[in-house]
Amino acid sequence: VVHTARLYTEEDPVVILTSDTLKQTLHNSPTAWLVQFYSSWCGHCIQYSPTWKALAGDVKDWEHAIRIGVLDCANEKNYDICKEFGIHFYPTFRYFKAHGNTLDFGKTYRGADRELQTVRQLMVNFLQNHTRQDWPAGCPPLQPFSSEDVLSFMGKKSEHYTAVIVEDEGSYVGREVILDLMPYDGVTVKRTLSSDKLLMQKLGISSVPSAYLFYPNGTHAVMDVRKRLRFFFSSFLKLLPGVHRKHSGSAQEREHAVNKGQSAVKEWKEFDKSKVYMADLESGLHYLLRVELATHKTLEGEELKTFKDFVTVVAKLFPGRQAVVKLLETLLEWLVSLPLGKIPYDAVLDLVNNNMRISGLYLSDTVQWVGCQGSSEALRGYPCSLWTLFHVLTVQAAQQPDALANTGLEDNPLAVLQTMRRYIGTFFGCQECGKHFEDMAKESLHLVKSLDEAVLWLWRKHNQVNARLAGSMSEDPLFPKTQWPTPDLCPSCHEENEGLHVWNEAMVLTFLKQHYGATNISPKYTS
Ligand code: FAD
Repeated sequence: VVHTARLYTEEDPVVILTSDTLKQTLHNSPTAWLVQFYSSWCGHCIQYSPTWKALAGDVKDWEHAIRIGVLDCANEKNYDICKEFGIHFYPTFRYFKAHGNTLDFGKTYRGADRELQTVRQLMVNFLQNHTRQDWPAGCPPLQPFSSEDVLSFMGKKSEHYTAVIVEDEGSYVGREVILDLMPYDGVTVKRTLSSDKLLMQKLGISSVPSAYLFYPNGTHAVMDVRKRLRFFFSSFLKLLPGVHRKHSGSAQEREHAVNKGQSAVKEWKEFDKSKVYMADLESGLHYLLRVELATHKTLEGEELKTFKDFVTVVAKLFPGRQAVVKLLETLLEWLVSLPLGKIPYDAVLDLVNNNMRISGLYLSDTVQWVGCQGSSEALRGYPCSLWTLFHVLTVQAAQQPDALANTGLEDNPLAVLQTMRRYIGTFFGCQECGKHFEDMAKESLHLVKSLDEAVLWLWRKHNQVNARLAGSMSEDPLFPKTQWPTPDLCPSCHEENEGLHVWNEAMVLTFLKQHYGATNISPKYTS
């Protein structure tokens, strides 16, 4: 029987439960659960699955308090468990408290409104239904603080920031921001109600919701965000200096990572995150040409074609310094003139290293990460520069549609992205990354019809990768994976629609073109 249209995969931020795992997962779980029992043949369930995935993504940072699961009752293996739990209709939403026992079959949500915001608020209410005894250990207090408590923070030094969201009784923003910041160290978030007029006066707050920030040094001020929305508050706090994501992985693993980094810490280079650095782009090209590709002894067939297209795209579009662009153009001419179907990579290296140096066409052979520097040697660097390079290239392609004329790649809005896809799939040292990227490309690259859409596609996919990697070992604690650009970089890129964060894509496009445009590339630190 073929009914396995898989509505949810391991890539989605939901936990896929089965008869083998459901009971043991729920039994004495440290977190609460919201589980959707669905059926993969039910039309409603299929239509609803994007909302459920969006919800799970939206509350991913809440996972030490409440988690989102799915269980497919149409899967033969799950028939019995669905029967045991008395699931008669699909989808059925069940809440399970933390620390439940095996006799707990959960509480069904029967409301007709299944909009993301409604369900998210229900999750908050459900969390608050826990008692002191069964409160999920990872979940911070959600009830409002009294004005005395809040005022007692004034003028006190502390090891961390304290943010206080001041809001009306029915508002969920405070609780949502508290939960959003759960996985972060360096800040605690509390909420208080606006009904206390004296407090409002003392804090100088006249409209709500507002946020007030107590700094570690004892000073305090109203939090300066462009829009007083959940996403703006949360992003602001996540980006405070000294605030970073707690890491998963064992303490031992973390220590190892830190030690590894310390042995190699270089001098920190100050940089401006609203700029792109030529040093990163050139270091990336250096690494790509002299290290990553050099592991291939010879290039032939598809590999050679991929390499040629890559050099074409970079030579024609890279808004680099003259010596570097010239070098790339010379490399391209050489590749195009070559009659061979196979080249030893040493010949490329010779050209890049020796011949070039003589004629002054030179690509620095030292690595100098600036915007891509990490808190340890093992973090950021090359992959960061590769993303940056491809964002720059998609933007250049959109700004100079004729640049690829007579290369065989003209008139193809996908030229840069397809080249990137093939480069990543063929040569990128991180194979898992290549596999994931290929899956994303297969799914939606064909929908891209213009050069502008190509810019946005890469941005969207990069954010998808950021979401997947948030909290993972490859995240640099000093550079948390966020949905980018953050509100401080582009306030107009962000909007809220019925409580859900939405991007203003027209503004995002404008921003990307400015950020990755030639005039925003800083030459600082290039020798
Ligand atoms: P990066 O994600 O490398 O981003 C670099 C810079 O780009 C950021 O500092 C920011 O200024 C900007 N930026 C961030 N988001 C966006 C956006 N949405 N649009 C435009 N600009 C943005 N690592 C894994 O562990 N698993 C994987 O599966 C994986 N897949 C990858 C696939 C590709 C194609 C690439 C190039 C890398 C992949 N990596 C993967 C590496 C990972 O994505 C990061 O590059 C790496 O962890 C370094 O992260 P970073 O903090 O420097 O930021």
